[in-house]
Amino acid sequence: MIEAVLTVDDIPSGNTEEIVQYLNENGITAVMFAVGNKLEKNPDPAIYALRHGMIVGNHSYSHPAFSSLSLEEAKGEIEKSEELLDKLYLAAGVERKYRPFRFPYGDKGGANKDALQQYLASRGFNKLKDTQIPYAFWKETGRDRDIDTLWTFDFAEYRIRKGSGFTLEDVFRRIREPAPAEGAPLLQDGGSHILLMHAHDETGELVPDYWKILIGALLDKGVVFRTPEFFPAG
Ligand SMILES: [Zn+2]
Repeated sequence: MIEAVLTVDDIPSGNTEEIVQYLNENGITAVMFAVGNKLEKNPDPAIYALRHGMIVGNHSYSHPAFSSLSLEEAKGEIEKSEELLDKLYLAAGVERKYRPFRFPYGDKGGANKDALQQYLASRGFNKLKDTQIPYAFWKETGRDRDIDTLWTFDFAEYRIRKGSGFTLEDVFRRIREPAPAEGAPLLQDGGSHILLMHAHDETGELVPDYWKILIGALLDKGVVFRTPEFFPAG
């Protein structure tokens, strides 16, 4: 068996509601990481996601590379989005049980990495349960101890752009890759993944309904999507 938890970055977007509808149809609960300044302009897709059972987490206010920020700036990016997310859950009428956080670009803050992990822990952020992840690299890189939510497999479908030369076929090559340079092979029996996909309208313009194609392919392969659980349990 292969199991996975789905995470979707960079909501809100024009396609957020369609992605949520597809996940609902397939009984999949995702953690969707929202960018604060996009939420300020357009909260409705994220409210829709909350009302349809998704967990919305913090992906910073302006999506910077955290290693380029001072510790105070980094905390400010996180705090500003926390306030917006508290308001969002209130507007949706949904109880906020969990506070997951994902660093933009998976950049854990460079010199401030340890201080930011301590801050996330002291500020009550929730760690996505990862004790089922069997890959050695997860522990060797300390990700089993970090509070923020990283991933074991990145579809990299956000690289499909005009002129990039990266296509849907390249995404499927990654899905089938038996020994990837980064992360863990996706379709290996006994696997357990945290998957990363993005809610990008630019991707949908080139590959309509890309989320159905990618998640549908995994469902066809028998991948079982787990409901996200967190530490500490709420
Ligand atoms: Zn992002």
